[in-house]
Amino acid sequence: MSLTLQYLGVAGWHFQTGQAGLLIDPYVTRLSVWQVLFGRAVPDRALIRTHTPPAGWILVTHPHYDHIMDVPEVARLTGAPVYASSQGCQLLGVLGLPASQVHAVWPGDRLTLGDFKVEVCASRHRIIFGRIPYQGPLRPGLRPPLRASDYRIDRQFSFLVQAGGLRVLVASGIDEEPSVEADLLLVGADATREQLAAILKGVRPRLVMPNHWDDMFRPLSAPVVPMRKPPRRLSLPLKRIDLEGFARLVRELAPGAEVIVPERFRPYRLGDLL
Ligand SMILES: [Zn+2]
Repeated sequence: MSLTLQYLGVAGWHFQTGQAGLLIDPYVTRLSVWQVLFGRAVPDRALIRTHTPPAGWILVTHPHYDHIMDVPEVARLTGAPVYASSQGCQLLGVLGLPASQVHAVWPGDRLTLGDFKVEVCASRHRIIFGRIPYQGPLRPGLRPPLRASDYRIDRQFSFLVQAGGLRVLVASGIDEEPSVEADLLLVGADATREQLAAILKGVRPRLVMPNHWDDMFRPLSAPVVPMRKPPRRLSLPLKRIDLEGFARLVRELAPGAEVIVPERFRPYRLGDLL
């Protein structure tokens, strides 16, 4: 059984075996900064229809808008059940998904989803401007269309996905990631040397791909540009993620590990790369 991986942009991934497809954090609507700050988080149904690969299951790392706002539409299209944090499930209910299609998961859960075995691991969200953004309970009486700020996080997961004899760690944070060995590591390219060293030491991957690295405020139709890094201090300019620097750092910290910056929607057959 072979395992093929596609990067969908932002933190979205699609895993495919001969029989089955698994989606993680699919998000192609890609709200602009203006829409995030002042507008409504309305999924782009036409784009979602065009760019949703076949999938039997959907996993959500955390319920921020750039991870979950397209999920109800993707779930309606595919009929796939969704696995998310309890607050993520609450949001999906507000957005009209039937409770029968939504499953709350917790760190330590092990799921068997067709060809895929998935371990749900605890993760920690990035600190941005000194805090975790949009955190806490949902506003009471939420009704769609929601604002981006209505998508509040309760907890965050990383997923260890096993299929086709391979192990892939989808790391959604850059610190306090699980220390589990995997063949392929998907991890934020904005991690510092210390953060990356700690993750690589625990995971010991043979292949690393950056996760959540393209500029999510630009539409799919625009040329791909790396995301801007949140600065340590408010006064510093916002630099874009340095993908070449990330690749150099991985090769230095984990000699023998290869780095591939995934092109969006290009299928990578992992058996050919590992
Ligand atoms: Zn987030």
